[in-house]
Amino acid sequence: AVPEGLPMSVTLSLALNMRRMLKTNNLVRKMHACETMGAITVICTDKTGTLTTGCFDVTDIQAHGISEPELLALLLSVEQKSTHPIAQAIVRYAKKQNISAINISEMHELAGHGVEAVIGGQEVLVGNIRLMKERVISIPEELSDKVATVVICAIGKKYAGHLLLSDTLKDDAVEAIAKLRKLGVTDIRLLSGDKKEIVESFAKRLDIDLAYGNLLPEDKATHIREMVEEPGKSVAFVGDGMNDAPVLALSHVGIAMGGLGSDAAIESADVVIQNDQPSKVATAIAIGRKTRTIVRQNIIGALGVKGIVLLAGALGYVTLWGAVFADVGVALLAVFNSVRILNRKVW
Ligand code: ADP
Ligand code: MG
Repeated sequence: AVPEGLPMSVTLSLALNMRRMLKTNNLVRKMHACETMGAITVICTDKTGTLTTGCFDVTDIQAHGISEPELLALLLSVEQKSTHPIAQAIVRYAKKQNISAINISEMHELAGHGVEAVIGGQEVLVGNIRLMKERVISIPEELSDKVATVVICAIGKKYAGHLLLSDTLKDDAVEAIAKLRKLGVTDIRLLSGDKKEIVESFAKRLDIDLAYGNLLPEDKATHIREMVEEPGKSVAFVGDGMNDAPVLALSHVGIAMGGLGSDAAIESADVVIQNDQPSKVATAIAIGRKTRTIVRQNIIGALGVKGIVLLAGALGYVTLWGAVFADVGVALLAVFNSVRILNRKVW
């Protein structure tokens, strides 16, 4: 028979883990994550909104064939229907210049590319270089070399201007990666839909050596799927965007930003970082490891004592009451051991 205290102590450990996690701003949405979190060997992270604030600033604007206010009015009208951080920055910028929106008849988002709309019967595209290449729209060549997020506008298949935007790292982004390394998680990968050059420059500042840019949401999924299938790898993905939902679901532990994150991302996540701080990933791993150790100690301890008592009982050394006391004693010890999840200062 299973020692009485064992299932209780495991449940207790997981409950205490969730409590400790909450105290450090990590909300556990799926019970398994309490424990899986401690076994993570690979961290894959999104860039925009996860390691960066997602609060872009427009640093440059260039209109081509139309006036700057006209270009901004188009961009404002299209982007105010999108929730992408880039779209929000453009809307903020245009509103600051007192631009007002115009009527648009159709609009849809193209994941990893930008948006497409119809204005006054004309097709308007707003998005990245990839989008323009796919729609065979010729753009100034120097745009590819810019180490900044480039948003290009095309009207009726013709280049009509562009914006340059820059994003900033979150206050604790560098610390977040350093803490993971300190915990011995050395396989850290930056997966982003942003331009390769930008992703690489951010990776350098963050001390991440594996950086992948220009990824479509499905490319991120392929990357994660391949790793998840490798035996011995336990993969966490940290993200915020609507596009990140599939990868959050695919990874062993999906971690979403609770404040900045989209609803879809939060719903697919196992753990939600409520205050959006990437350094909480390391905290969650540390708490998860502690929990694993304690659960293991409780299991080994309980089974060990049970074994000894059974053996001693069989040899006639233990009375029924002795056995009951051993069981209760073990359960109590397991409870005290589990409570250490709360006491230990993890960070
Ligand atoms: P990530 O969060 O990794 O940067 P996304 O898949 O959210 O990736 O976006 C990838 C790229 O698609 C952005 O860097 C941007 O160039 C383009 N993009 C997506 N949505 C929009 C939008 N609403 N307006 C302009 N560009 C967009
Ligand atoms: Mg993102």
